[in-house]
Amino acid sequence: MNTTFAECPKCRSLNKVSSQKALEKTPVCGKCGETLAMHGLVSEVSSANFKKIITKADGLVVVDFWAAWCGPCKSYGPEYQKASLQNQQAVFLKINTEAEQQISAEYGIRGIPCTIVFKNGKEINRQSGAMSAEQVKSFLGN
Ligand SMILES: [Zn+2]
Repeated sequence: MNTTFAECPKCRSLNKVSSQKALEKTPVCGKCGETLAMHGLVSEVSSANFKKIITKADGLVVVDFWAAWCGPCKSYGPEYQKASLQNQQAVFLKINTEAEQQISAEYGIRGIPCTIVFKNGKEINRQSGAMSAEQVKSFLGN
């Protein structure tokens, strides 16, 4: 069974969530019971949980670095979400570059949206600019 991760918006705990559960009903935080808001199978995370996830996940972890003011990021959002449903073996995350400026600097994010793929905690590929769901799929090597 495919699993993904979700950060609790209230207590910031990292929850492991089965993809099936995430799609069928709204998962809740194991610690405080708050609803874990996911967009398709995409989870918005902070940099602390992002670092935990990229080392914990068995397969690929895909991260969309974005910002609310960025037009191309907005059009990319739904495509990225669609891609999360089509590639359920990978974990799909989003990081808000305005809220998490340090991590964006650490990874040298200059233009957004910027999509980075990690395996075993290491960056293996990156792509700047918006993609279609199909392009994300081939970007992941499918
Ligand atoms: Zn919680």
